[in-house]
Amino acid sequence: MLIDTLQPKIHGIILDMDGVLWRGSQPVVDLPALFAGFQHASLNVIMATNNASRSVSQYVERLAGFGVSIPPTQVVNSALAVVHMLKQQFPSGGPVYVIGEQGLKDHLLEGGFPYAEEKVVAVVAGLDLNFSYAKLRLANDLIRTGALFVATNPDPTYPHPNGLAPGAGSIIAAISTASQTQPIIAGKPYPAMMEMALARLGCAPAEALAVGDRLDTDILGAQRLGIRTALVMSGVTTAAELAAWTPAPDLVTPTVADLIDLK
Ligand SMILES: [Mg+2]
Repeated sequence: MLIDTLQPKIHGIILDMDGVLWRGSQPVVDLPALFAGFQHASLNVIMATNNASRSVSQYVERLAGFGVSIPPTQVVNSALAVVHMLKQQFPSGGPVYVIGEQGLKDHLLEGGFPYAEEKVVAVVAGLDLNFSYAKLRLANDLIRTGALFVATNPDPTYPHPNGLAPGAGSIIAAISTASQTQPIIAGKPYPAMMEMALARLGCAPAEALAVGDRLDTDILGAQRLGIRTALVMSGVTTAAELAAWTPAPDLVTPTVADLIDLK
């Protein structure tokens, strides 16, 4: 197997999903054979996505729809990482103002951070398809009067059937500009979500391999933590972008299936 060429030996995989496991509604590779291959090679796998608009249970259902059954503990997203960061600051929880989709609000509520529009401990921002001037104004007021500013992921755009749509990063930039405050960001390439994934894998950074299709999130985030990297060319990265990136990823393959022996 290609990953056996890495030393020290890889024990855990941190797997991006969009552009790695599927593109839109189409799987990139034979997913049941891929996950059987991970199991056969005794590789622990955690899936980690910057996308906070879908909840962990929605990803578990999506994988089940592709014939792969996994427990929810095998998926982390930037919403879970936000909850983890907030718990460190506010161990007993507290009200938060949320600019984001229902999946983000659900994870916050479960973690002890119910939605509110006043007397909040933090403003949490992510992708919100109903973002508005009124929401921007309220977030600005709350941050300027002392609420902590936390954000899910910095992605400026995300792929859409008609091109690129504005992502969480575009909304965060608006709030940041208004409030003159930089957020603490949970998703890749920042460390919070990647550290959560590593903790669940239970292995050292050098024994983990992050597999992703984006250089400035998946690969950069892993490189900063000393995690080994595999770039797959099944998503958004072009050959020219790869050539310009230093240091190069440890491995580059057409798809995730080329890393291991499928079963
Ligand atoms: Mg991706």
